[in-house]
Amino acid sequence: MPGEKHPSSIQLLETHRLSPNAARVALMEILLESPQRHLTPEQLCAAMLKRNDGQSISSFKKAIYDLADLGPLARVVVSDRKNRAITFYELADQPVHRHLYCTRCAGLAEVFDATLEQTIRQHFLAHGLMPAKADLALPGLCADCQVALAAEGRPAAEGVGPSAPARFNG
Ligand SMILES: [Zn+2]
Ligand SMILES: [Zn+2]
Repeated sequence: MPGEKHPSSIQLLETHRLSPNAARVALMEILLESPQRHLTPEQLCAAMLKRNDGQSISSFKKAIYDLADLGPLARVVVSDRKNRAITFYELADQPVHRHLYCTRCAGLAEVFDATLEQTIRQHFLAHGLMPAKADLALPGLCADCQVALAAEGRPAAEGVGPSAPARFNG
């Protein structure tokens, strides 16, 4: 593969006892190098095509779904203003956390709250459920978007922003 190697992407895969094929390594490298933590499959595929290292979209998409099922990636599912589900992927290298989602600019904020996680876990246990490694983000309007809408003279509740970057269920 041309370009620089990212040893930590291979290490991360080996930590999860996964064979580091080219598509998986490319995916981990893209996530490690991305300034954004949470990326949709479309954003991931766009980054992959930009690398131009000969991956096929289908094997790359398979790597996304496989790594989300097998451990290295976590899913964040959000519902946009039109109630469409969008899935973001992030490296599962942080403690379990929740997400707040701005439906206008598609920004995701992370919430780390050990007490909350403990409570949620207890509810899962009480019902005999194993929690999945996915979070359903809570939708809202971020501070910047509230200001932007106010400047446009529109009440926040009616603000219609650009639709979120992707529609893709994964
Ligand atoms: Zn926003
Ligand atoms: Zn996150």
